[in-house]
Amino acid sequence: SFPPDAVPQAPEDPLFGLARAYKADDSPNKVDLGIGAYRDDNGKPWVLPVVRKADEVIRNDPEANHEYLPIAGLAALTSKAAELLLGTGSPALSEKRVSSVQTISGTGAVHLGALFLAKFYKVNGANRTLYLSNPTWANHNQIFSNVGIPTAQYPYFDKKTKGLDFEGMKSTLANAPDRSIVLLHACAHNPTGVDPTPEQWREIAAILKEKNHFPFFDTAYQGFASGDLDRDAGAIRYFVEQGFELVIAQSFAKNFGLYGERAGCFHYVAAPASDAANTTTRVASQLAILQRSEISNPPIYGAKIASIVLNDPALFAEWQENLRTMSGRIISMREALRSKLEELGTPGQWNHITDQIGMFSFTGLSEKQVQKLREDFHIYMTKNGRISMAGLNTRNVEYFAKAVDSVVR
Ligand code: PLP
Repeated sequence: SFPPDAVPQAPEDPLFGLARAYKADDSPNKVDLGIGAYRDDNGKPWVLPVVRKADEVIRNDPEANHEYLPIAGLAALTSKAAELLLGTGSPALSEKRVSSVQTISGTGAVHLGALFLAKFYKVNGANRTLYLSNPTWANHNQIFSNVGIPTAQYPYFDKKTKGLDFEGMKSTLANAPDRSIVLLHACAHNPTGVDPTPEQWREIAAILKEKNHFPFFDTAYQGFASGDLDRDAGAIRYFVEQGFELVIAQSFAKNFGLYGERAGCFHYVAAPASDAANTTTRVASQLAILQRSEISNPPIYGAKIASIVLNDPALFAEWQENLRTMSGRIISMREALRSKLEELGTPGQWNHITDQIGMFSFTGLSEKQVQKLREDFHIYMTKNGRISMAGLNTRNVEYFAKAVDSVVR
């Protein structure tokens, strides 16, 4: 049996704790700005119309069943998922330099990548340190430390400008030991909503190249950030064009609204070389072994939904329309919040609300102010001042702005 105290009490996951507290609050004014899931203007979860159509296709298919998928998942999904990221004409695809595995959404993709790097990406027998942005998605830290990859941070968020600390980021990456691993959010950085510009991405790529660092992209918001799938894949495509060997964790949770269905992919891209296709085959063989021991094979339903949409031009066009609906509503909430705060003359600058992009905004509110918003106004957000923009709607944005105004003064 376990010795006494061998299993200490772990803290509750802060986000899920927040969701519980929100649920228990019976105020009619309560506002949930915690968890990162899209809500429509009525504050309700939104099943994308295109997902309803794909669901109907499955239900009307007399051949549909509940058999196991192959270990690497649904090939009709993984091949289109790679195209979605890299672009249909990508030489990496035609040169067979890409190996893709369907995973348990984005989290499973980050985990599979972490496990793969922990096992195979070593210098003189030792794992390399992985650099995470400060701050980053909280789960990154534990996913990498769970598999024994040491982590360090690079500066990212500048508290003064509420934008990118580009100089800090560059100098830390330039001074990191050669061949470090660098985790990069492809777009719509979580939790800050701050992304590098295309010009800044070019500079970041140049530093990584110079230092022989290994890029690990995490993309959970393609198409959800700007409404444009190609634009949101711009950083990844640039790095692939520059000839990097890299990996990508891809989630379909937000952009398809398939949160609980756990649809995602992990991709390995080899650098262009005469033996690149062989390298890719060897990588695929090892990924299959890791996948088999971890989950055996991935779940089928969300994969079928995404694959039906990605493989049908009419449904694909409709998906893009749905993406513009979600990203458009979020952008309009950013505009409404900023203009209400400016109208109220709330002390401080509020341009970062519209400069930031994607699901989240780092408001700059202090932990004390966040607590006051919760106690006095029934508004729930993480204590670092991050708000999920999707929790705002035409009914509550003014209430929220007035509450912020009151706690900031
Ligand atoms: N990576 C980032 C940066 C995220 O924000 C998220 C979701 O919040 C994920 C990965 C993975 O999410 P999921 O496992 O639901 O696809």
